[in-house]
Amino acid sequence: MSVYDQRPWLKHYGEGRPREIEVEHPSMLAAFDRTVARFADKPAIVYFDTPISFGELDELTDALAGGLRSEGFAAGDRLAVCLQNVPQFLIAMLATWKAGGIMVSVSPMLKHRELAAQLTDSGARALITFESLWREVARDVVGETEVAIRITTSELDFLDQPPAQLAGSRRDRDPETLDLVELIDAHRGVERRPASPPLTLGDVAFLTYTSGTTGPSKGAMNTHGNVLFTASVYREWFELDEHDVVFALAPLFHITGLIGHLSVATLVGMPVVMNHRFDPDGSLELIERHGATFTIGAITAFIALMNAGSASDRDLTRLTKIASGGAPIAPATLEAWETRFGAYIHNIYGLTETTSPSHWVPLGKRAPVDPDSGALSVGVPVFNTDVRVVGDDGDDLPPGEIGEFVTSGPQVVPGYWNKPEETEHAIPGGALHTGDVGLMDADGWFYLVDRKKDQINVSGYKVWPRDVEDALYGHSAVREVAVVGVPDDYRGETVKAFVSLKPGESATSDELIAFCKQRMAAYKYPRQIEFVDELPKTASGKVLRRELRDRQS
Ligand code: AMP
Repeated sequence: MSVYDQRPWLKHYGEGRPREIEVEHPSMLAAFDRTVARFADKPAIVYFDTPISFGELDELTDALAGGLRSEGFAAGDRLAVCLQNVPQFLIAMLATWKAGGIMVSVSPMLKHRELAAQLTDSGARALITFESLWREVARDVVGETEVAIRITTSELDFLDQPPAQLAGSRRDRDPETLDLVELIDAHRGVERRPASPPLTLGDVAFLTYTSGTTGPSKGAMNTHGNVLFTASVYREWFELDEHDVVFALAPLFHITGLIGHLSVATLVGMPVVMNHRFDPDGSLELIERHGATFTIGAITAFIALMNAGSASDRDLTRLTKIASGGAPIAPATLEAWETRFGAYIHNIYGLTETTSPSHWVPLGKRAPVDPDSGALSVGVPVFNTDVRVVGDDGDDLPPGEIGEFVTSGPQVVPGYWNKPEETEHAIPGGALHTGDVGLMDADGWFYLVDRKKDQINVSGYKVWPRDVEDALYGHSAVREVAVVGVPDDYRGETVKAFVSLKPGESATSDELIAFCKQRMAAYKYPRQIEFVDELPKTASGKVLRRELRDRQS
């Protein structure tokens, strides 16, 4: 029996915590119905300062589901949502399910070719997007796709009073499109509950396109069973209930937002506070004013909050349940947040294909740091989840040895939409080969060393970018950093760091190189430093190392 079969991580869950959990509903929609029955008058959404109750949300989504069906949307059809963090996102999600469909979550940052690819791959029949994005991008590409139902909306809807942050927004509806609010109003009260075959745990809830930090996008099929499970993981792991308030720090279209904001809130009956687009000062204001108790986002978002001009005036004492995932976290950043705001940020790790978390640092625990690599632990496998670290031959490696994480559990998607070969390659027998490389220590904590492909090879010496990034984060002037390998005639590759500095701070390349040289083996320290204002990132906040690498060639 392998050490991984003994689940040595279970001891870290904490006293009185369950070791396994079961989902309690036949679908996410059934979970929503139960929440409406319990909390009809409670806010489900607070958009800037305007609330929408669960009862109202139920009516809005009944009406939109009716409207979609009247336009020809049928059970099993795909509805693509291409929006920022606005109420229409949750409305569209629930209405899609009420009409028996699948929601395709599309990044609002996509350019023409990328959007066309996702709409075509998913075979979406309906699209909901902003008036602005329709004119700028979607209008030009829908003709190449099967999108027949074209609905637009605005960030100015569902507001009592437009906030200052939306001062630049204008209505600009194309008469060729349906307006979301008009469609809802036309079907309000007409059909209380559209008939469709009841959804089951095996039905696909979301198609989520993988970030694209490696290779072309593929649509992961997150089923209702996957989503209910991970929403329940959030609830149990962070002890969330109807008294909590979640601030939507992550983009809703990313798996983190879909599960860690929308799905868990739907399950437990807590409000989601949203503010259209990430804006550090505005976010801090809303977190304080609405007493957010929980949030999750990329560490870059927390760095931006800490560096916001108003940070020192804000009282975030209610915000105690904090998680960050999606990208490596430098231990120094956690310390800086804790010193500033008093709360500990729990590392959480997962992929689109694991429907958000496979690993998490338990509430009340602190992630250890691996003494050899300096990596902060990504936590321990969550309930019902098995993770093995395997070598190139596919065999389990002993604790302490570095290999690929292979994950099995109720959160792993059954596959990619219309891609049986890729599914078989990445998820053979239901076990996800993550492409992430790391180790489990003897105590059951997991550490991610890096993605396989990011490893830098300097004359045969392997350098993990994160190692160098962590060192640079220790320098007081450094705001953000990303390290890549760049071609070098002599060594094959050499280490280059792209650095952005904190406002008002200064540092020279020589200074930073000397700083690293003092702290790491000679082959590791960066030979080149390039200063940038902002690092290129995916919309979910993941630094695009590939883009930085490509700039060099
Ligand atoms: P995505 O599918 O966009 O969620 O990206 C998943 C990838 O993000 C993983 O394969 C990891 O490489 C990376 N990732 C996720 N969580 C973490 C974390 N806590 N620390 C480091 N990398 C992470």
